Amino acid sequence: MSTPDTRLKVCLASSELAPLAKTGGLADVSAALSAYLHDSGHDVRVLLPRYRQVESLGLDIEPVPGMANIGMRLGHDEIHYGIDRTVLPGTTLPVYLLRCPALFDRDTIYTDDHDEDLRYVLLSRAAIDMCQRMGFAPDIFSCHDWQTALIPLYLKTVFSWDQLFARTRSVLTIHNIGYQGMFPSWILDRLELGDARHHLHQDDLKDGVINFLKTGVMYADAITTVSPTYAREILGDDFGMGLNHLLRDRAGSLFGILNGVDYAEWNPETDTRIPVNYTPEDMRGKSTCKTRLMEEMGLDVDAGRPLVGIVSRLVGQKGIELVEQVVPAMLEQRDFAIAVLGSGERRYEDFFNWLKDRFPGRASYYQGFSNELAHWIEAGADMFLMPSLYEPCGLNQMYSLKYGTVPIVRETGGLADSVQQADPSTGRGTGILFRDYNAEGLYWALDRALQLYGNAALWQTIVANGMRQDFSWDTQGARYVELFEALRQTA
Ligand code: ADP
Repeated sequence: MSTPDTRLKVCLASSELAPLAKTGGLADVSAALSAYLHDSGHDVRVLLPRYRQVESLGLDIEPVPGMANIGMRLGHDEIHYGIDRTVLPGTTLPVYLLRCPALFDRDTIYTDDHDEDLRYVLLSRAAIDMCQRMGFAPDIFSCHDWQTALIPLYLKTVFSWDQLFARTRSVLTIHNIGYQGMFPSWILDRLELGDARHHLHQDDLKDGVINFLKTGVMYADAITTVSPTYAREILGDDFGMGLNHLLRDRAGSLFGILNGVDYAEWNPETDTRIPVNYTPEDMRGKSTCKTRLMEEMGLDVDAGRPLVGIVSRLVGQKGIELVEQVVPAMLEQRDFAIAVLGSGERRYEDFFNWLKDRFPGRASYYQGFSNELAHWIEAGADMFLMPSLYEPCGLNQMYSLKYGTVPIVRETGGLADSVQQADPSTGRGTGILFRDYNAEGLYWALDRALQLYGNAALWQTIVANGMRQDFSWDTQGARYVELFEALRQTA
């Protein structure tokens, strides 16, 4: 617990926060990092949009006095919003909600609507405005992905007059550089940058583009990303997605911190969602979870048949094209089953629906989002497949390790940092990694996993090695605090 002098003041603005609003790992990280900081005694104020999805949770939400009807002009739009307050379920962390139904009461968290930029410009400016109204002088403004990546520029320009922020340092965390928030330059007026507009990337402006994430990379005092390997990978042409040159200029301020896992949520010993709990010492419950999962997903119930699980957004990044190239052929040749949960691009959904029909009893697919089923698959599968083209951190492979579900992953990003190659000669290692992003690579990895599975004693050793790994937020959160404290020293 930090003492009042040492405690950090942090404002964290995020477009996702589990379980209030989640499409991916960003939600898990924002929630876990905030809760970790709060539990460690730091003063953290979190701001999230009050999306329609938040309403379904039935939380106690109260308006913050004096922040009911705030007007903000953004270009031609006069926006009215309020700030509400709730508590993150299962914690005592206060969460502030940006209430603006005109922008956030929509079917989905992210949209393709014409005002997507405006929604997150509002979030970014409202976070700064909220600090001003509260008289809260953050040591650190913690920004996440493109949605809040304009905050560093705002702090350094439009709001630099305000002494409240004189010692504030901004940290931009990149969860996935593939999403940069690129908008046509006609939205410029909506940013309300005034004279500071010349701080935007001028070549982009000439090309008619404003790139939110790039702006954050240019102006954040520090940049973090979610694994050490990804921090190196994004400096190169292959994974930098056009930002690698800028990132190389800022390499001294770029840090890779692996995400932590929320073991209160993801632990087979205590998980209330799975059919039966189990421990590394007594794994009988895992077999029950496997047979129940097979039943539930319409697979032939066969406890001895290796079961591969996938839980994923179905997008190009996740390497589903390799699954298309390899898994049907492997199902022809080898005796194993596969259980898939995910939604995303139509072609991949169509593929898994086809696979299910082509291999009834051995391939199953649930199209959609189900946290419950994600837990069931982690607990019930023997192996977990993540053949990602790139993976900034990835959480499921770390969940899998804890659940004794051996990860089969491509050696990239956080997958490379959290899974160690299983070595049959020493019994060391926690999973199977393949290097080359092609069908041969995945074929090799799956084949190897099935071979290792055939050696029960060795398999149990690999499973046990994985279950002993610790990626808790206690360790990973402390790295953020170290960085935040170092930045505070520079103020
Ligand atoms: P990303 O953020 O790129 O989607 P991560 O592995 O970092 O990948 O985080 C994915 C998170 O989203 C995990 O908590 C995973 O369980 C969850 N998830 C992804 N797809 C689904 C789905 N269809 N149903 C339930 N949970 C899902």
